[in-house]
Amino acid sequence: CNNAARRKRTMSELDNSAEAEKPYIDIQNLTKSFTVKGERLEVLKGISLSICKGDVFGIIGLSGAGKSTLARCINRLETPDTGRVIIDGVDILSLSKSQLRRERQQIGMIFQTFNLFEAKTVYQNIAYPLAIRGVKKEKRDRRVREIAEVVGLQEKLSAYPAGLSGGQKQRIGIARALANNPDILLSDEATSALDPQTTLSILELLKDINKTMGLTILLITHELDVIKYTTRNMAVLEDGVISEAGRTGDIFANPNSATGKMFLKVYS
Ligand code: ADP
Ligand code: MG
Repeated sequence: CNNAARRKRTMSELDNSAEAEKPYIDIQNLTKSFTVKGERLEVLKGISLSICKGDVFGIIGLSGAGKSTLARCINRLETPDTGRVIIDGVDILSLSKSQLRRERQQIGMIFQTFNLFEAKTVYQNIAYPLAIRGVKKEKRDRRVREIAEVVGLQEKLSAYPAGLSGGQKQRIGIARALANNPDILLSDEATSALDPQTTLSILELLKDINKTMGLTILLITHELDVIKYTTRNMAVLEDGVISEAGRTGDIFANPNSATGKMFLKVYS
């Protein structure tokens, strides 16, 4: 990770260069298995990944590869069996419940199925994470309106999700994920239920958010085009193993792993 390299470094930045080299999300040797009907299913078989601050990082894999399990281990909705998840120097597996609650506020998550509260308005959906954190009404109101404008829903605040399109529903999901001003956005197949045109508009929004807010985005998908269009770096996940990782352009131009080659051949 060397974001400072893009511009001229000052002396103090050079002094801090070791800091700049550190990955922002550092996943080390993560394993996770489930026991289903007495049988042990190994889902993550030693995943290691380094993601830099401010990156848009893609993880591509077929259905069942373990993508969602990996995402859930990163925000500790799942507890891995072994390995470490270090975010900004903090090992999130070592946190107490209250520390974890605070850490989770740094990670917003969006899903294929949107996971909205259907009985709540757009406003209430976006306000929800602020309300449970106890943010005062006035501040909450300001933040909801501010973030609704970012995603283009300022005119829809009193609507219910059922009356909106898929793209608008995902915009609610994004606004809700961003309400607490997180540093990381985890996107698990967030465009997989959307048509190509709507997918494009959501990906544009994510790119924009990455640029203007400096959010680190982890984009998990089975869709090759989504990875190619959006990410700067990527990893290929196959059957619980990372078979290849690197710059997206390099992997698309010259995949090294058998899976990478297969993926590009079959799905492009
Ligand atoms: P992906 O998101 O790449 O499609 P998942 O991480 O959802 O893959 O699932 C990987 C494998 O782990 C699948 O075989 C799935 O059935 C299994 N799995 C995921 N979560 C659980 C769970 N909570 N209990 C049992 N099996 C699970
Ligand atoms: Mg999944």
